[in-house]
Amino acid sequence: MKRRVILLGPPGSGKGTVAACLEKQFGWPHVSSGYLFRQEVGKNSPLGQLAKTFIENGKLVPDEVVLQLMEHWWDGTDSAAGFILDGFPRNVPQAMKLDSWLTARGVALDVVICLKAPENEIIRRVAGRRSCPRCGRVFQIPDMPPHTEGICDDCGGELTQRADDRESVLRERFEIYRRETEPLVNYYRHQGKLVLVDAMQPVDQRCAAAADALK
Ligand code: ATP
Ligand code: MG
Repeated sequence: MKRRVILLGPPGSGKGTVAACLEKQFGWPHVSSGYLFRQEVGKNSPLGQLAKTFIENGKLVPDEVVLQLMEHWWDGTDSAAGFILDGFPRNVPQAMKLDSWLTARGVALDVVICLKAPENEIIRRVAGRRSCPRCGRVFQIPDMPPHTEGICDDCGGELTQRADDRESVLRERFEIYRRETEPLVNYYRHQGKLVLVDAMQPVDQRCAAAADALK
């Protein structure tokens, strides 16, 4: 069974949704660096203060700040039990850092799932994205709406739109994805770890395809 998993893909390609399905089905924890950052910003912690402006403008947070956050995650992670990582690594230096952490523990990544979708479809999806600030669950209007408009199905929190999901910021995030993150596709292809999943298929099929990649 493949336990150490990375999800790659452009902003809004549905990494979080797929990660949540995999977590439910297999049990290893899903961690999203973007979600961890938004929590830090919400708490106005020192890390959150360092990251805030970058996030709001759709820029990547500088590596030294990201690595502080993720080092903390790595220290608390049982790498034998497994994990589903979404949003980290985001560029080649971050991937090399993660490789060095894995090597130091004598373990390796098992699979890197890359979600593929055309830019115009993603922009449509992100425009309808609403998330729960309390529990982190993400909904999608009109494809995956909550039962009651504006209210989280799981915890009753009031759904909000992320500031960085506004269209101008989203286009910036796309460009950064192409420039900084897309090179990781080849990085992991060379390691023989890459599996491509069509992010245009309905959620159920997308999750099933990702689950197959873990078997
Ligand atoms: P989506 O939520 O649709 O997957 P995304 O991948 O662009 O879109 P997040 O992963 O939630 O968004 O990240 C939000 C923001 O947090 C990023 O735009 C960036 O500013 C910051 N961030 C998160 N992870 C990293 C990282 N590994 N390196 C640098 N910045 C990061
Ligand atoms: Mg995300």
